[in-house]
Amino acid sequence: MKEVKEPRKSLLYYYGIILLVMMIFNLLMRPWMNQRQIVEVDYGTFMTMTENKEIGRVEVQDNQILFTDADETQVYKTGLMNDPDLVQRLYDSGAVFTSEIIEEASPIVTFLLSWVLPIAIFWFLGRFLSNQMMKKMGGSNSMMFGMGKSNAKIYVKSTEGIKFSDVAGEDEAKENLMEIVDYLHDPSRYKEIGASMPKGILLVGPPGTGKTMLAKAVAGESNVPFFSMSGSEFVEMFVGMGASKVRDLFKQAKEKAPCIVFIDEIDAIGKKRDGQVGGNDEREQTLNQLLTEMDGFEGNNGVIILAATNRPESLDPALTRPGRFDRRVPVELPDLVGREEILKVHAKKIRVSEGVDFNKVARMASGASGAELANIVNEAALRAVRDGRRYATQADLEESIEVVIAGYQKKNAILSDKEKCVVAYHEIGHALVTAKQTHSAPVQKITIIPRTSGALGYTMQVEEGNHYLMTKEELEEKIATYTGGRAAEEVVFGSVSTGASNDIEQATKLARAMITRYGMSDSFDMVALETVTNQYLGGDTSLACSAETAAEIDRQVVDLVRKQHEKAIAIITENRRKLDELAQYLYERETITGEEFMEILERE
Ligand code: ADP
Ligand code: ZN
Repeated sequence: MKEVKEPRKSLLYYYGIILLVMMIFNLLMRPWMNQRQIVEVDYGTFMTMTENKEIGRVEVQDNQILFTDADETQVYKTGLMNDPDLVQRLYDSGAVFTSEIIEEASPIVTFLLSWVLPIAIFWFLGRFLSNQMMKKMGGSNSMMFGMGKSNAKIYVKSTEGIKFSDVAGEDEAKENLMEIVDYLHDPSRYKEIGASMPKGILLVGPPGTGKTMLAKAVAGESNVPFFSMSGSEFVEMFVGMGASKVRDLFKQAKEKAPCIVFIDEIDAIGKKRDGQVGGNDEREQTLNQLLTEMDGFEGNNGVIILAATNRPESLDPALTRPGRFDRRVPVELPDLVGREEILKVHAKKIRVSEGVDFNKVARMASGASGAELANIVNEAALRAVRDGRRYATQADLEESIEVVIAGYQKKNAILSDKEKCVVAYHEIGHALVTAKQTHSAPVQKITIIPRTSGALGYTMQVEEGNHYLMTKEELEEKIATYTGGRAAEEVVFGSVSTGASNDIEQATKLARAMITRYGMSDSFDMVALETVTNQYLGGDTSLACSAETAAEIDRQVVDLVRKQHEKAIAIITENRRKLDELAQYLYERETITGEEFMEILERE
């Protein structure tokens, strides 16, 4: 949903501001404080001033003499000398003796003015700034003087909330959450039988799949207040603040029960405590407070806590223990049917021309999240407006997929003829290898218009329906397809370019997964050699084997990719005439459809 912020940077920024304002403040205060400051003069000056009757008031102390000038605007001091008739002379000069304070500005006042006041100002400023920051991030209201108060607010008041029908697809998640809605409607049935609701439910899934929407929908359907807060909002500048926010949030929630408390990005506070020295105290305190709160209330008091995360594996096990977030609801990327539904839901909000084939769009957008699909529809509408049309068309939607997935067309990136030629061969190479392998999905579209994402061209494949299982052969063919671009360059130009870096990455990843996770190598049998540590974000893996095995894995990965690469080169060489024809055609048109491609490939 949002990118990771950099707390270090923002903290530095904050200290910078403090220092700057401190300096300005000191400058502003100086003249005023100086006025109360005392100028030290020598005894000679004092005597001269006495003679000239320039002394206003005077106070003789144990070891010094304090005096003012005649207008009493400036205070002076001088040391006390053995001077027997001083008092007489002062008296003659008309000075007024006083035992009152012609006193230095009290050190307390100075301290208050130069330290306590600015710090107090900063503290409020800091609260204000951090509230502003939060506002930007989570949309909470600012409570400048409500220190340590959570910024949770009632998000959905009553009926006018989001409903399950607004969330397309995600049927399993909805079914799971329906139980909560049912409970909130009529808790007595559950109480009678003695069943208690789980206190916490964890929604896990990749970003943009509708977790926040689902949480709101639970509140909307049950017609109860909805408190929402993001995990990152708890972690504050000052230690202890987060914990007090948690306390306050739960206090409010208990008053308003039955209600839903939603904590987005719970991993921001719920990360595994690693016991490192100098760990994040603030985060730990916040997490502990959350655990305490969850343990502190009964399952039946009507406060249901929903939390969302896209890195469930990083959560502290204490959070997922029974009695806490013990139910886990997966919210996965939508499948073909889900994608089509999501597109339709969002298309209702814009004007679409009749006869748009949403199924086709959904098939082209395989792997897109709900948020990306919403974005695709919006991009289509924007494109229609740019072109002065009143309705978004099929073409708008299809181009939007490319925009959202591959970035905007880079109109002013001009490839040299030679480069364009290489890219054309490269892309046709991918497509040709795909088409010639029976199991591979047909190509949808090939383009050599550079994208802002840096891709110089790409071949879009369309999945026919959903693929849950892939065979070893299909995976191998996929690797061959990845190598097809480079293979064409080698065969045609006898040299290679940097254009295949992404292909290389993909091919390697796939080959590794086949060997380490899918048990598709001959020698390792069904042994898991790698575990996925970051399922929803990129899928980082960590090796779980000995160094020798790791070396053997590397060798096998190379062998696997090389074999497919050789296969691709063979396919390209056999079909050299078609390759030239297709590359020439693509070079001229820059974008060709799958049908055009197949037409040329199949004609004699
Ligand atoms: P998450 O919390 O999982 O990151 P959000 O719930 O914030 O995702 O979704 C972001 C946006 O994406 C929503 O406002 C909505 O427009 C769109 N969206 C995501 N999933 C769906 C869905 N299943 N149905 C309809 N719209 C969706
Ligand atoms: Zn490529």
